[in-house]
Amino acid sequence: MSQSPLKSRTAIVTGSNSGIGLGIARSLAAAGADVVLNSFTDDAGDHALAASLGTEFGVNVRYIKADMSRPEECRALVEQAGGCDILVNNAGIQYVAKIEEFPQDRWDAIIAINMSSAFHCTAAALPGLYARGWGRVINVASAHGLTASPYKSAYVTAKHGVVGLTKVTALEAAGQGVTCNAICPGYVLTPIIEKQIPEQMKTHNMDRETVIKQVMLERQPSGEFATTEQIGGVATFLCSSAADQITGTTISVDGGWTAL
Ligand code: NAD
Repeated sequence: MSQSPLKSRTAIVTGSNSGIGLGIARSLAAAGADVVLNSFTDDAGDHALAASLGTEFGVNVRYIKADMSRPEECRALVEQAGGCDILVNNAGIQYVAKIEEFPQDRWDAIIAINMSSAFHCTAAALPGLYARGWGRVINVASAHGLTASPYKSAYVTAKHGVVGLTKVTALEAAGQGVTCNAICPGYVLTPIIEKQIPEQMKTHNMDRETVIKQVMLERQPSGEFATTEQIGGVATFLCSSAADQITGTTISVDGGWTAL
């Protein structure tokens, strides 16, 4: 196989200045794709990250600021990028509280960023993918797109919605060279998870290691976090010709969580 199977493809990865999005961007760049990094910030560090990724992998990497909580910015991201061949809907946030105490603004933000942004970006990208006769839409859902946990009402709702959107996108795109699938990670040690550790330590009165082993990885039979490199590898596989007929499905990377 060519060292650069994705050469001349352009990938937009939403929410990619850290964590899983960055892992996916790195893997696609390593496979030769030009990449558009994104987040809602516009720091020198964001642009420096794009420049260093471009140098590391010898591809064109740009950073485009767009707030995925705003439909018009989702659509503008795709337009400013000049379209794409690969769209990875990855941006996401988390908030944990009982339903009756869940702040309305957190509900709205999670639904907007974790779910509706995938719809708006996909809607903006599809005409270009159809015109090229090839495309990949990859939605980063979650084990929480397939199963639930208490106190994560907005997140679980949004991720189940993303899995539904994945199936509809796949059906509408079928036969046009365009596939759509969802990757469903279990726990991956990224900033979104790091932030939850001190909260869980307080809630459960446990130390860090015990929270990791007994609260987080308790759901993950392998007893290990998945890595951003592994998620990147799955996304890159979904862009290969071996995955031409994989569409409308979910791929779990969760150490066995959803097999329980
Ligand atoms: P992260 O916090 O490292 O990354 C989230 C990314 O989204 C960041 O780049 C952040 O800047 C960006 N983002 C947040 N709000 C945004 C907004 N309004 N507009 C644009 N970008 C925004 O966390 P992560 O773990 O890498 O999460 C990435 C995705 O993976 C999320 O959709 C998350 O739900 C999903 N996921 C994570 C895990 C895990 O265990 N880490 C498990 C399953 C699914």
